[in-house]
Amino acid sequence: MKKIEQVYEGKAKKLFTTEDADVYIQEFKDDATAFDATKRGTIVDKGVVNNKISTKLFQLLEAKGIPTHFIERLNDRDMAVKKVEIIPLEVTMRNVVAGGMAKLLGLDEGIVLDEPVFEYHYKDDALHDPLINDFHIKALKLATSAELDTIKDMSFKINDILKEFFDSRNLDLIDFKLEFGRCKDKVILADEISPDTCRLWEKKSKRKMDKDRFRRDLGNIEETYQEVLKMIVD
Ligand code: 5GP
Repeated sequence: MKKIEQVYEGKAKKLFTTEDADVYIQEFKDDATAFDATKRGTIVDKGVVNNKISTKLFQLLEAKGIPTHFIERLNDRDMAVKKVEIIPLEVTMRNVVAGGMAKLLGLDEGIVLDEPVFEYHYKDDALHDPLINDFHIKALKLATSAELDTIKDMSFKINDILKEFFDSRNLDLIDFKLEFGRCKDKVILADEISPDTCRLWEKKSKRKMDKDRFRRDLGNIEETYQEVLKMIVD
């Protein structure tokens, strides 16, 4: 499978057409951004790590019955995926208070939630990905009620699967972001699942093993990405 034409370049990935009209190649970059791309940098080999981790997690989810855009990992940085029309929502699931939820509600990070908190954000950097609800989504015609039901149902199942998996790898899944796409009238999981899109804390020590090391200048960024790769994939 070969890249033919670049159709999109995002903050962490590029997307290419292939000889198959239904298949794209997503290339994982080392570029790192935070705070709506006002902070920029490079994490050496982040693309390689995130491609491998996303592959592992998409395979796990597929095996548990979650439809995803994943087809196969082609090499260090490239993954073949089904062509989808991305729904412009960032869905977040939270098991422990951190980041945006701590800030929004004035809570301390680390409070364990009795039940997962499910949120929709409108995917728009210029608006800072605002928190929105079903009514906003319908008003903006971003997705139908049936699509939202599917997204919500899948997100809770994904949380259960990933929480159990990370638990077995000595990691607590604090929160994560998902994106979904339409593929032949079906809603499937798209984008990536990686330390860029999840908060992962080492059990007991609570050491941050994710992109917060970059966002918050915590140091040992490359080493931690390599370490978390070993914990997840090996
Ligand atoms: P928060 O809303 O607390 O900033 O983010 C919640 C979770 O979703 C975190 O695991 C964070 O990494 C992920 N997340 C939210 N928005 C984005 C985004 O725009 N890009 C990436 N890479 N992750 C995001």
